[in-house]
Amino acid sequence: MSLIKTHTCKTNQGELPVKGRFAPSPTGRMHAGNIFSALVAWLIAKSQGGKIVLRIEDLDAQRSKQRYIDAVMGDFEALGLFWDEGPFFQHGREEVYEIAYKKLEEKGLIYPCFCTRADLHAASAPHAGERFVYPGTCRNLDSSQRLEKSLVRTPAKRLIVPDAIVEFDDCVQGRVCQNLSRECGDFVVRRSDGAYAYQLAVVVDDAEQGVTSVTRGVDLLSSTPQQIHLQELLGLPHPQYAHVPLITAHDGRRLSKRDKDAELDRLIARFGSPRAVIGHIAGITGLAPSCDPSTPEELLDCFDLRSLPESFVDRKSIEWK
Ligand code: GLU
Repeated sequence: MSLIKTHTCKTNQGELPVKGRFAPSPTGRMHAGNIFSALVAWLIAKSQGGKIVLRIEDLDAQRSKQRYIDAVMGDFEALGLFWDEGPFFQHGREEVYEIAYKKLEEKGLIYPCFCTRADLHAASAPHAGERFVYPGTCRNLDSSQRLEKSLVRTPAKRLIVPDAIVEFDDCVQGRVCQNLSRECGDFVVRRSDGAYAYQLAVVVDDAEQGVTSVTRGVDLLSSTPQQIHLQELLGLPHPQYAHVPLITAHDGRRLSKRDKDAELDRLIARFGSPRAVIGHIAGITGLAPSCDPSTPEELLDCFDLRSLPESFVDRKSIEWK
């Protein structure tokens, strides 16, 4: 095993102005979980005198819909979660992602992968809920094998990862360590349809937009070591990370954009106003001592990144009520 990279979570110590971000994928309406993580992102930035960037993550052209872009922006505004810069988009930025991709290619770290989803699953038989680790099937194909396979299938492009541990301190989850080759494997940076993968786009965008603070759901925690590794390879700065618990339904299942009951319109109908929705979410997650109606601005009074409520430090989920 080679490299060990350490990245520490710091509150702003006067070096860089804090810039957080909202990065919704416009594939559905926001639900309580999305609102909670946006609220924490906003509080982290604003409690340090920082700014918020709005980036619409519409990389997946097929699933992204204009009506959801309009809805998500209206939802943030209705909730008092105002942003300072943007909206920025991902569509039409292929040339920018390509520059980063070419840098990785020049380092000799990219190879074509012809595996189908079915092949991959057959190769590793992952158990339900277990993380998929790419076994390196296509890493050592020779040029004639690559040529032969490319006649039948357009490959995705994977990044070779080292046998190295990425280590960082998450503001909510504490110290996180991941061995890239054993726990992740070579990962896709360009899909077989030519689209750049989420991991690459997000790293390029965060750096270009000056994001210093990333707050998102803990379901993306295992992506962060890949992103930190890409930042290292591309010479980009590392933001501070905060992975907040997911809001789960009574049966422990995470809320998804399909859970209509937790969608903002229904929440407003149930609680009476956007302020009451924010107050309820703040109360059940421990951001506020009660579920009384509140604006994000009012919650700033009791928010401190250095002493987060016990209800979500180290926690992976909070039950929706
Ligand atoms: N666009 C992703 C989502 O809406 C979030 C990605 C990120 O925060 O890095 O789930």
